[in-house]
Amino acid sequence: MTSTTTRPKFTRFELLSRLGSGMHGRVYLAWDPQLERKVALKVLTVDRDSSASLDQFMSEARAVAKVAHPHVIPLFEAGTERGVPYLVFEYVPGQVLKEQIRGKAFDVPAALGMMTQILDGVGAAHALQIAHLDLSPNNILADRQGRLRVMDFGLARWVRRERAENVDDIQGTPRYMSPEHFLGGRLSLRTDVFALGLIFYELLTGSPAFEAQKFSLLRQYIEDAQLDWSKLHDRKVPPEIIAVIRDAVARDPKTRFSNACEMLAMLREAQLAQSARENQDVAVQFLLRRLHRRPEFPAFSNSIAEINRLTSDDSTAGLQQLSVVVMRDFSLANRLMKVANSAFFDRGAGGATTVMQAIQRVGTKTLRMLCNGLLMFEHLKSDNPALQDALVSSFIAGLLGRGLAAKLRKELTDEVFVSAMFNRLGRNLVIYYLREEHEEIARLVAAGTPENEAERRVLATTSAAVGAAIAAAWKFPPELIATIQPLPNGELPLAHHAQEFHRYFAHFPNELCALAAAPVGGDPTLALSAISQRYQNVLQAPPAVLAGLLQQALDKFSELAPTLGIARATSGFCQRLEHFLATVAESILESTTEAVLTPA
Ligand code: ADP
Ligand code: MG
Repeated sequence: MTSTTTRPKFTRFELLSRLGSGMHGRVYLAWDPQLERKVALKVLTVDRDSSASLDQFMSEARAVAKVAHPHVIPLFEAGTERGVPYLVFEYVPGQVLKEQIRGKAFDVPAALGMMTQILDGVGAAHALQIAHLDLSPNNILADRQGRLRVMDFGLARWVRRERAENVDDIQGTPRYMSPEHFLGGRLSLRTDVFALGLIFYELLTGSPAFEAQKFSLLRQYIEDAQLDWSKLHDRKVPPEIIAVIRDAVARDPKTRFSNACEMLAMLREAQLAQSARENQDVAVQFLLRRLHRRPEFPAFSNSIAEINRLTSDDSTAGLQQLSVVVMRDFSLANRLMKVANSAFFDRGAGGATTVMQAIQRVGTKTLRMLCNGLLMFEHLKSDNPALQDALVSSFIAGLLGRGLAAKLRKELTDEVFVSAMFNRLGRNLVIYYLREEHEEIARLVAAGTPENEAERRVLATTSAAVGAAIAAAWKFPPELIATIQPLPNGELPLAHHAQEFHRYFAHFPNELCALAAAPVGGDPTLALSAISQRYQNVLQAPPAVLAGLLQQALDKFSELAPTLGIARATSGFCQRLEHFLATVAESILESTTEAVLTPA
């Protein structure tokens, strides 16, 4: 190409054609006579208010110019011409990703390949702490070789946003805005992660995650950050990949990946986990990695692991050391004192005035179980009713198991309390940390899918496997971890060893408590009979006895609730359990508990 003087010029650049005009301003294909190459010239539309903002523009441009990556379109030059800022980029002939998608979904391997390139490119900018803030399929170009290249880093800052917000007929960009964008919150690399999740979703489904013609409606969709996950299931996207999208588009930025590099690392792990699905360890490890990224999860698990380590059988830690750990958590120490001084320990009330005395009073073994239980309640507090119900249910199951063991296998009393309480640890953590996934599992179960199959479909593993792995990470004793393993269906075989009893006693109270969640209208007496038969080789307990055990555990819980800081009166689980017990036929409740509860 030779330069002619007849072409219009912008500074030294000769304008060849208009590439587009978007929200940023005008984009030209231009000729740089100095370096003799084609470039993409963007003349920005910005408020020409102060020179301060132009200084900022240049410093931002200097930062962006440092991003050098095969999947990023480089910035060659930036400047201002009579107060108008402009940017000069490498000219990349090709097509924007938006046009490539056009309602067409890519298959999983193709979408993964594309997403990897995009994350790689954005990751290079994120590594320099540069946020894009306007990522969308319109800002990603596919060159003639099909290689994806991200463009316009940092440009969004220089555009007047109200232009995007006032239109009610929306195209492009606003669809990829994050909830914090709409709510006027702080924007960060995590804002880009949200958009990256939406782009991934669009590659896999062929349509934008949020489709609304009215701006107000779109805004509502995005603020709720609720995607239609069924589209991904319909396209047979593996749950591990869906998990990466979920964690990218979390409503709360803190829950998202911190940047594109972390998202890419997780995507690679998801691919590995998916290809080694038969290996349960890999599936569980993948899920644990997800949980570990959650705010406060590591701190929570560290306290539990530390207490378990100090109270393990081979620990030489003294009382002093233990009380130091307990006192580090004021609320834990406080509650521990209250419980230790309550009548719960069958050692009479009162007495301990220091944490050390309280530990002495309850003994280290019991201390361990109490701290675990109290920490769990303390840290899992939330406004999620499903979680509150699950925790109360677990605690009541612990009390029921404790009472049962005290009668039938006295030496197991304390162990059964903990193992029954933590029998559904994995499930409880899924409810807490992966609320949407839990809701999806619940829907599948309600539609008739067996629970462990529903879990496999959504989590690619089971909550029991996750619970066992976390219990191990938290340094729970191996005997306890072994009890988490699911029991077979139907009538259970005879128990021979203490460990088998232990496992049965850990599950049995939870199966009983689960009845409170049974559909209304089911026959409670029949439900109790089914459990009674299932366990008949382990213990002889007709339905009336089972109902009695539930009632006792509920009463004990009601007594303890104030100490634990639980609002018993508003517990949905307790209400349902009460209702369940009230509907058990009067007649079967006449026999007394003690008389018929015996080992088989
Ligand atoms: P907007 O997103 O506001 O519409 P863009 O700056 O993204 O404006 O550019 C508009 C069009 O110009 C794009 O759709 C793309 O086709 C083209 N374009 C932008 N940058 C380049 C580039 N570096 N090389 C080739 N084409 C480009
Ligand atoms: Mg653009």
